[in-house]
Amino acid sequence: MPNYNILITDGLDERGQSILRDAAKVDYHSKLSADDLLKVIADYDALIVRGQTRVTAAVLEAASRLKVVGRAGVGVDNIDLDAAKKHNIVVVNAPTSTTIAVAELTLGLLLSLAREVPRADVTMKQGQWSKKEFEGVELNGKTLGIIGYGRIGIEVGRRAAAFGMNVIVYDPNVSEDELLHSEAEPVSIQELFAWSDFISLHLPLNVQTRDLIGPLAFSQMKDGVRIACAARGGIIDEAALLNALNSGKVAGAALDVFEKEPPGLTELVSHPRLIATPHIGAQTAEAQSRAAEDIANEVLAALQGESLRWKVA
Ligand code: NAD
Repeated sequence: MPNYNILITDGLDERGQSILRDAAKVDYHSKLSADDLLKVIADYDALIVRGQTRVTAAVLEAASRLKVVGRAGVGVDNIDLDAAKKHNIVVVNAPTSTTIAVAELTLGLLLSLAREVPRADVTMKQGQWSKKEFEGVELNGKTLGIIGYGRIGIEVGRRAAAFGMNVIVYDPNVSEDELLHSEAEPVSIQELFAWSDFISLHLPLNVQTRDLIGPLAFSQMKDGVRIACAARGGIIDEAALLNALNSGKVAGAALDVFEKEPPGLTELVSHPRLIATPHIGAQTAEAQSRAAEDIANEVLAALQGESLRWKVA
């Protein structure tokens, strides 16, 4: 293989680094500033990022020898795909590596919403024994509405069905035939809002889905609905969610992702019926190791002009 230079920013599990080091010269700069990235990018054939580094049009313009950008994970909203296309730079990701981790976190969020586990723990740490305060609800027998029935949505649906939930889904790209042998029933988005006791979001953020869960959507939901989102910040209109929590329309919400990350100690984050986690959906040892291995092999394949499994652009 020719002498390729590969730059890793944001962090990559050791498994992926060692695959890359066996085949190329690798520089690992976590926390590279946007200016520094612009200064050094012209030296590299490949760039590997997670979600933090913004691979902007300016970075891609300056990247005179760059052939491939690899995203060790799923979401590519931090990469300017149009600019990559314009400069003939391939973009690849590792979309299957984090599916189970996000699905399992989602079940954790749904259970936490049902039983207020995080708040109960806080009261214990304050020396209280507030047993009577914590009468929750069961997942069993409740209806879970899943919006976005792709890789993660399907795994959430399977696990929720094992908890005895009735699973209904809205996904405009999944046909009724595809759902014939699944535990999920396809419904319209209005039916999903009207029938769900719990709603979980597993769709991408794009111009169609930004603020999808806003004032109108909340008004169509059951009183006392509980909502989890480990998809992307921006799909839920956070100001509308805060209003819905304050009015009691929404009994509880759990967010792993935010419009602005980190969000800081906003009124929403500090709301007693909001469970917040710092975008940890993909943060398991297994998912990070899989993502690193998958993206290392995919980036090397791209450099060598081999066929690609996960070409995004
Ligand atoms: P996927 O592409 O497999 O599934 C997404 C599904 O959403 C697709 O089936 C698509 O048809 C559907 N969809 C698109 N637009 C829709 C709309 N308007 N209404 C309803 N459904 C719509 O993706 P995935 O791997 O399952 O990931 C799902 C989400 O989870 C993405 O937003 C991804 O960025 C996010 N994610 C978050 C984390 C985290 O750390 N919290 C980690 C990985 C992925």
